[in-house]
Amino acid sequence: AKQLGRNNFQFYSDALQHQATRRVELERDLRAALTNEEFELHFQPQVRLHDDAVIGVEALVRWRHPERGLLSPARFIPLAEETGLIVPLGEWILRAACRQARTWRDAGLPPLRVAVNISARQFNDDQLPALIENLLREHELPADLLELELTETMLMTDVKTASITLNRLKALGIALALDDFGTGYSSLAQLKRFPLDMIKIDRSFVANITIDQNDDTIVQAIIKMAHNLGMTALAEGVETTEQEDALRTHGCDMVQGYLISKPLPATELEAWLSARHV
Ligand code: C2E
Ligand code: CA
Ligand code: CA
Ligand code: CA
Repeated sequence: AKQLGRNNFQFYSDALQHQATRRVELERDLRAALTNEEFELHFQPQVRLHDDAVIGVEALVRWRHPERGLLSPARFIPLAEETGLIVPLGEWILRAACRQARTWRDAGLPPLRVAVNISARQFNDDQLPALIENLLREHELPADLLELELTETMLMTDVKTASITLNRLKALGIALALDDFGTGYSSLAQLKRFPLDMIKIDRSFVANITIDQNDDTIVQAIIKMAHNLGMTALAEGVETTEQEDALRTHGCDMVQGYLISKPLPATELEAWLSARHV
């Protein structure tokens, strides 16, 4: 038994060692990736239900790792946040999104607003409004073509500071969306103090609206609340026409999800958009 115990210990410590090594490797690679421009943005369309128009896209980052292939954000965003690398990475993402929005505008497409996910570290950096202002100027981009997606936890940790930051961002003319709504702990009284344009209803509620009466009731309540606060309601993770029909019935303004399209590289999105209009 003693022998087994030792082997076990050896096993776990090897496993831990291996994990730590991979982490160090990943962190080293992440730094290099920023210099080597290994990141890319994919874009998922957002559709307005009443006229079926694509009025925006959400930018979602991917990492084209030289050995490990295309990595999803779940594989590297947490590490980027821990190490602080999310700040330069987040700046790269914002710049790439602005550049793309400007390119689409120049191409004469119907206006496409690009939504960018902002991490807590970025949001708490008091240079964020100045950075956005510079990027808009650098790209001569109308502010209403840029949207930032923020989460409840970011806003609720320090409501007073968050509200100041939001007002500075809003003053630039950009759009502000509350992401993953329903998964955090927002108080309604506080929500109405924030200058938000859109509430994105989390996919976990949308997934069950046609099966679970409770989720359907919650989704209806969120849509009503958004409208009462003068905000747009967008449902995330829409995968079936039944879900889309229910959302339309409930007066939801916009939808996003695999039913419409998965996130696509820019050129594929352009092809998808033009195929949609013929
Ligand atoms: P999120 O902001 O909630 O993004 C939506 C995620 O749901 C995306 O995953 C998208 O591909 C996926 N999705 C879209 N439609 C459907 C659907 O119909 N069904 C299902 N099951 N999933 C759907 P992705 O791209 O892997 O991103 C995961 C998370 O990583 C994002 O969640 C966001 O929190 C974070 N993330 C992605 N891009 C960025 C970024 O540029 N910056 C930061 N800070 N975080 C990012
Ligand atoms: Ca998002
Ligand atoms: Ca979301
Ligand atoms: Ca999320």
